[in-house]
Amino acid sequence: MRTGSRHLPRLRTICKHGAIGLSIAGVGLIICFTINANRFKSRQVRVPTAPQVDLNASELTERLSGAIKIATVSTQNSARADLPKFVEFQSYLRAVFPDVHLGPLNVLTGTEFGDPRNLSLLYHWPGSDPALPAMLALAHYDVVPVEPETVKLWTHPPFAGHSDDEFVWGRGALDSKDSVCAWMEAATYLRREGFHPERSIYLALGHDEELGGLNGNKRIAQWMHAQGIRLHLIIDEGGCILNGFPGVSRPVALIGIGEKGYASLELSARIAMGGHSSMPPNETAIGILAAGLQRLQTNPLPTRLDGGANAMLDFVGPEMDSLLSRLAVANRWCFSPVVKRLLEATPSGNAALRTTVVPTMIRGGIKENVLPTSALATLNIRLLPGDTIESLLAQINSTLNDPRIDVRLLPNAREAPPISDPLAESFQELQRTVTSVYPEVIVAPFVLVGGTDSIHYVDLCPDIYRITPVRLNQSELTRIHGIDERIARRDYIDLVRFYIELMKNIAGPSKS
Ligand SMILES: [Zn+2]
Repeated sequence: MRTGSRHLPRLRTICKHGAIGLSIAGVGLIICFTINANRFKSRQVRVPTAPQVDLNASELTERLSGAIKIATVSTQNSARADLPKFVEFQSYLRAVFPDVHLGPLNVLTGTEFGDPRNLSLLYHWPGSDPALPAMLALAHYDVVPVEPETVKLWTHPPFAGHSDDEFVWGRGALDSKDSVCAWMEAATYLRREGFHPERSIYLALGHDEELGGLNGNKRIAQWMHAQGIRLHLIIDEGGCILNGFPGVSRPVALIGIGEKGYASLELSARIAMGGHSSMPPNETAIGILAAGLQRLQTNPLPTRLDGGANAMLDFVGPEMDSLLSRLAVANRWCFSPVVKRLLEATPSGNAALRTTVVPTMIRGGIKENVLPTSALATLNIRLLPGDTIESLLAQINSTLNDPRIDVRLLPNAREAPPISDPLAESFQELQRTVTSVYPEVIVAPFVLVGGTDSIHYVDLCPDIYRITPVRLNQSELTRIHGIDERIARRDYIDLVRFYIELMKNIAGPSKS
């Protein structure tokens, strides 16, 4: 490099100009970031607080507790040996919610859906204007089992329906007998108040959601399709009111606008050469498979800040506590790598940004001193909306890059359903209702990592929203499907209020 002394003044001038140019660019960027941050307006709404309703808390919690006592357990591969419990549960609903089981409400059962063994129920409250598309609410009354060895870890037995001053305890308290009973309570209240919906209201109570809803809501959806029923909005379980959303001190009511797809893959490595382990070759089937799994773990699918994650940040970003966070989220065009890295740091944030691939089962070999000729592993995959099963298979094969490893798609895979619009009129109606009952919260859309029965209705309605607004923190989320599942009495009463307001706002006269 020629940097003789006679060139120094020129170099200094260039450096000076360069520095000025950079400074101007820097100031320009800062101005641009600030303008974007200022334009990053809140998407929260101001609405009057919903009125308190005259509800008898003791009676309400007693009825929920009674519902928990009936162990309607969905067990994988079961032949419905516990069928009497499901029938008993239906009788219980009829006994404690008589107003919901009298005309003009119709209760449709499995016979209508082409299969008397279908134990799901569909309630129909006809609206005065049949031309209006209906509202559909979903909940399920089956629950996941409790592993026998964990029963002793529960504070109260999981099917005792224990209720105290603060909580109602037991399997189903959050998922989702709370919803089932709260819808019944809300409908009972409105009927006694003389409410007449203008828009029809349907309530589908699934009996096999925890098994995929294939005999329950899938058939109800087919039946609704055949009847030509049009829907304005579907509300299902999914989100909650989360205390402890990163960077936000206020609780966040998360409304699921989508859910991830699901797939499992079986990977098998086979090698012709078996034999005695005292003279091993360089590679065995186990080694080949392990190396493939290692490649998959170290090369995860790419993160994407689009769709659901983008929508979530649009709603949460303006409410973030720190100015720096707001600046970064408002200027994702520049800071998306930083935002992604921050989100990626937690398992839930990571799951929100990418299709996740995780090995969940592995087997190979038959004896300690025999070389294995085959080894198998199962991968469980949750597909981010936008990724398809086909694109996933291509990506997995390309990362494995080993023709000795076969990849097989296992049954029960499903694509991620389309994302619902967080700016749709029905989302806004829902947001206003959430805010009116829970004025302390921020509302934000997100994509669920689990699945719900609403997936069976994607052809019937584009506006599917998933939330049961119960206040939970990160650690309490583990109670769902876990130990010590319980709901706070206050949350349960507010849930009933929320459903009352929602039916009034979505289906009530002059609101349609
Ligand atoms: Zn559930």
